[in-house]
Amino acid sequence: MFGGPKLVLVAGPCTVESREQMLEIACAVKEAGASMLRGGAYKPRSSPYAFQGLCEKGLEILAEARAQTGLPVVTEVLECAQLERVAAVADMIQIGSRNMHNTVLLRAAGASGKPVFLKRGMSARSEEFLLAAEYVLEAGGSDLVLCERGIRTFETATRFTLDLSVVPFLKQRSWLPVVVDPSHGTGLASLVPSMARAAVACGADGLMVEVHGRPDEALCDGDQSLTPELFYRMVRDLRAVAEAVGRSV
Ligand code: PEP
Ligand code: MN
Repeated sequence: MFGGPKLVLVAGPCTVESREQMLEIACAVKEAGASMLRGGAYKPRSSPYAFQGLCEKGLEILAEARAQTGLPVVTEVLECAQLERVAAVADMIQIGSRNMHNTVLLRAAGASGKPVFLKRGMSARSEEFLLAAEYVLEAGGSDLVLCERGIRTFETATRFTLDLSVVPFLKQRSWLPVVVDPSHGTGLASLVPSMARAAVACGADGLMVEVHGRPDEALCDGDQSLTPELFYRMVRDLRAVAEAVGRSV
């Protein structure tokens, strides 16, 4: 699915908040051209007092969203103990930025037989990112996608600094598909469409974008979430860039 001429657009809310919210967004992103659904059931929040996700209930809702839309689902696993439950529902297992260095989880995900979506650690060098990928591959995983999601720098205007140079770098150094997440990479919805276009221009095989029906009411990452309408426009405006680099949306 990832790595062909057609870009893979992964879209959905940061976190599954309710059945209604997830189903509404799932239908909207499908209509706009997304080919995969995202949504966290288990959330790795910075604060232990912040909403931690709907957990098993969230997985059930994701299964329903997939059944309704036909879109495959990628969702994050935080620890090995969740792996079986997540793998029963997800088409692809996400290992988040905070777990990129968790070699035990990397191995377990690789051995699970499920495709793995590996996000770059926010302070990881590209070399460390590639070595984390090696853990997944070495454990038997063969279907693996790398995701640049921004790194920590001295810059404070954006939540993270989206390192687009890593896209061609990773492609030169490995055969793995590379996806860019401009939502976490910038933290600001207004910057997402232009960074999405830039990502496609520099060779990304897909995008992961957060979408929420009412971003100001989102339980997580509202500032960086596009409305379905803005996501639709982002996809529309991506077409010309995709064509210019021999890809399609
Ligand atoms: C996410 O995609 O839901 C997420 C938590 O992203 P990251 O691991 O990149 O912070
Ligand atoms: Mn998020």
